[in-house]
Amino acid sequence: LRIRHKLLILAKTDNLTGLLNRTELFNKGAKLVELANEKAQPLSVVLFDIDNFKQINDDFGHHIGDLVLKKIAGLVSETMRSRDVFARLGGEEFVAILPNTDMDKAKAIAVRVIEKITQHAFDQEGVNYQLTISIGVANLQETKAVFDDIIHAADLAMYQAKAKGQNQMVSYETISDVQERRQR
Ligand code: GH3
Ligand code: MG
Ligand code: MG
Repeated sequence: LRIRHKLLILAKTDNLTGLLNRTELFNKGAKLVELANEKAQPLSVVLFDIDNFKQINDDFGHHIGDLVLKKIAGLVSETMRSRDVFARLGGEEFVAILPNTDMDKAKAIAVRVIEKITQHAFDQEGVNYQLTISIGVANLQETKAVFDDIIHAADLAMYQAKAKGQNQMVSYETISDVQERRQR
């Protein structure tokens, strides 16, 4: 029984970071969106993408890249509350689902994470460097949608943050390009 329990947990976990994996993110996301709709509560989604991460691998090797992913997963986790769901979407991208959290609160959390990462002196096995991340924020109220749509909106916002020069947060509500909104 204990082994079965362990296997169940492993199936939901990202090997490298120990965070929830992509499959579990989408499982939990669907449930939480349903619940938020039922209770007419806000829900926000925050998508994090490490800036120029490929450069870390190229400069210091894949092993250091892995350690950076673990470190960032840990740093962002510290900012999350117990009710939040934090997962690795894939590669160097992470997603937080913030139940009962409106856009303003989600944006404040995103800004806090950006500051935290910017101020952190990364030091993995004697290799020192600074890192930044770009963040997209979207919420249920704005999109009135299923989880996939909210995450897509957060992704569009994150790409806008990259386009504006990285190391910043953009919320989906402020995306100016009507064409981008329509592509949803
Ligand atoms: P941008 O600022 O535009 O996001 O650029 P980027 O370099 O962060 O993004 P890009 O998508 O070009 O590269 C992501 C890199 O992440 C490429 C891939 O090799 C690396 N990567 C993905 N998963 C892992 C992993 O588990 N470990 C390591 N070390 N690298 C990974
Ligand atoms: Mg990426
Ligand atoms: Mg990146």
